[in-house]
Amino acid sequence: MAMSLCDDTLLCNFPKCRSRLSGFAWVTACSHVFCDQHGSSEFSRSPAICPACSSALSGKLDIVRTELSPSEEYKAMVLAGLRPDVVLDICARALAFWSYQVHQERMYQEYSLSRAEGQLKQMDKLLTQQNQSRELELTSMRGEITSLKKVMEEYKRKYSEVSERLMERNRQYQKLQGLYDSLRLRNMVVGVGERDSQPQSGQQDLNNAAAAASQQATPLRSPQLFSRRPDAQSRFFSCLEADGAKPFFQFRSPARDRGRSFVSKP
Ligand SMILES: [Zn+2]
Ligand SMILES: [Zn+2]
Repeated sequence: MAMSLCDDTLLCNFPKCRSRLSGFAWVTACSHVFCDQHGSSEFSRSPAICPACSSALSGKLDIVRTELSPSEEYKAMVLAGLRPDVVLDICARALAFWSYQVHQERMYQEYSLSRAEGQLKQMDKLLTQQNQSRELELTSMRGEITSLKKVMEEYKRKYSEVSERLMERNRQYQKLQGLYDSLRLRNMVVGVGERDSQPQSGQQDLNNAAAAASQQATPLRSPQLFSRRPDAQSRFFSCLEADGAKPFFQFRSPARDRGRSFVSKP
């Protein structure tokens, strides 16, 4: 619009038209101007009303259709013969019309500008609020991540502790299993020796070794089955073996079961 003023062109005053005037324009006594399209449609009906200010335009010269770029012949003749004061009066009124239009346009531009500035401020405020709420959200999320990381570290630590303990228990189990196996072997040997009324020298050596092993093992929590009356127990087992109950002996041993449950405990 500012460019159009620099180009020395007025704009149609019809609401929301604002097209640049050229060719013919409709000028009113209430100092408004319209493009040829809006002027011809608005002022064809009577009584004529100004679409910009609603003034009644009933006078003969209240509405004039003017050629904006008049011919040289017209310019030479239109004011010819008039007294200088009349010529100047006509010029002054024409200039007043022009300056009124420019002023109106400036008012309109200023109004548009202030409205745009208001909208801009509103948008800026909204954007700032959104940014602040996002910032808050982000901060709380970061806090959440930090606490989750801590929880995860704690779980990792607990897991490594538990797996360490499991390994320790496994080691204990292996030790006990070894102990149990050696005791079983000794008792088998002892049982065989007792059945034999005259033990051979080689068997005696084995018995001695087993006895030594049992003495070594006794302080280390030997299974309950063997801790009480070992001679009777060993006799019992050797009888089982003689009856062909070896599978029962191997798989249903309470010591073994104890060992299993011991491992599976959390
Ligand atoms: Zn128009
Ligand atoms: Zn008007």
